[in-house]
Amino acid sequence: MTRNLPIRVRSAFDDAGFAGTVEALVSQTQQLYLADGVPWVVGYSGGKDSTAVLQLVWLALAGLPADQRTKPVHVISTDTLVENPVVASWVTHSLDVLGEAAQKQGLPITPHRLTPAVADTFWVNLIGRGYPAPRPKFRWCTERLKIKPSNTFIREMVRSHGEAILVLGTRKAESSGRSARMTALESRRVRDLLSPNEALPNCLVYSPVENWSNDDVWTFLMQSQNPWGYSNKELLTMYQGASADGECPLVVDSSTPSCGDSRFGCWTCTLVDKDKSMSAMIQNDEEKEWMLPLLELRNQLDVADDKHLRDFRRMNGSVQLFKDRPIHGPYTQESREHWLRELLTAQAWIRENGPDYVRSLELVTLEELEEIRRMWVVDKHEFEDRLPEIYEAAIGSKYPGRPLDEHLPLGPDTVEVLRDITGGDRLHFELVRELLDIEQRHRSQARRAGLFESLEKALRRGFYDDEADATDRAHHRKAALDRSQDDDPDPLDPNPLDLADGYVRPVQEVAP
Ligand code: SF4
Repeated sequence: MTRNLPIRVRSAFDDAGFAGTVEALVSQTQQLYLADGVPWVVGYSGGKDSTAVLQLVWLALAGLPADQRTKPVHVISTDTLVENPVVASWVTHSLDVLGEAAQKQGLPITPHRLTPAVADTFWVNLIGRGYPAPRPKFRWCTERLKIKPSNTFIREMVRSHGEAILVLGTRKAESSGRSARMTALESRRVRDLLSPNEALPNCLVYSPVENWSNDDVWTFLMQSQNPWGYSNKELLTMYQGASADGECPLVVDSSTPSCGDSRFGCWTCTLVDKDKSMSAMIQNDEEKEWMLPLLELRNQLDVADDKHLRDFRRMNGSVQLFKDRPIHGPYTQESREHWLRELLTAQAWIRENGPDYVRSLELVTLEELEEIRRMWVVDKHEFEDRLPEIYEAAIGSKYPGRPLDEHLPLGPDTVEVLRDITGGDRLHFELVRELLDIEQRHRSQARRAGLFESLEKALRRGFYDDEADATDRAHHRKAALDRSQDDDPDPLDPNPLDLADGYVRPVQEVAP
């Protein structure tokens, strides 16, 4: 009879034992630190892998004589502003604590909390621009929320020092893909232990725990005390109920998979089937029930077929076909207003019903609200300026933003009259509103340059009867375009697309 013995995952501590391995790693980190004057940037997400790495770097620096600890070590942490709020406050607090502890212990470690630029945040893109919730084929978030903030910081380091060394908690055991990428980069190492980074020139990567297993990381965190006085036991508690290897590392390139199902991903993430992590947190801990409105909003965003929420035209107003159907564009005004209302209502509910520590929770900042308002009024010509009203209805207090600089063509009441006159015809209403706005903006200019182009663009975007008419015309345009590529067109012929749109009618041959 054959018996299957359980397979034990190899541990990084197998050869030299726990203490010997950690000691060797600390000493290796010290040698690398002293080898040159290149500044270090440690990627810290607050998760187990990056905590382990920061702990090793800390032990290495603390073990050096004070006069050798001259090189700066920057600890960077990206906050997407849509992090799970419990985790976000855990990480922010950890950064504060470690900054103070480093100062007290005389270590050249400086923490930095990096956030996306206002124009790049999740809500400004989704509610302001109308980008649909992220999907595998339209993953617009990672670049804007994670990669850009960290890469901007690292590039700035490289610009001012010529080079930077990135210390990361990436491990080969995370996945076979990760292992293959790390091994491939290892073969291009120019210096011992330092791998190049494809996305960041002049930046080398040191991954001290690259060969550790998941269990090795936890063993290290449980057996050695956190040197900046944070609690690794609490960190372990935070992982309970989350996916086994759930981690969201510092993201510096787009090869990183979504980490929305880990404790350290965005609560809004629609790239995962379900936010298992947040559901588990709520299920396992009655104290966390206040997060339910977040889970509900995330689930609302995760609609498999969201065409009814989106415009049938692309962001630039064009109608593009895929398999004879229009490719839908941004969320409509109605949907964007809906998402804002839902978000602010969730915030108000949590502040009122949640525990004391979330009484001033901010799901969307005033800066973001101001940018969303500007985009609606200026970029999208929605000059009825609905944001303050939505804010006041949801939050129950006056909108704290500044008065608009814009001189608006009509007041909100008159816009409502316009809406009535157009009898529920959304396209007609939006077209007239846009034309009025364009006229108003050009009225104050001495030269009216660009007026006709803007009017024409608005007309081209909004002259359809409805989606079916737009689809029909898109078919005609496509056919006209195909025909014009076949023929040898006379430059004096009318534009075939204008013909297809009905702007120009072909002249019939008439008998002399
Ligand atoms: S966790 Fe999800 S929403 Fe957040 S950046 Fe990653 S893929 Fe985008």
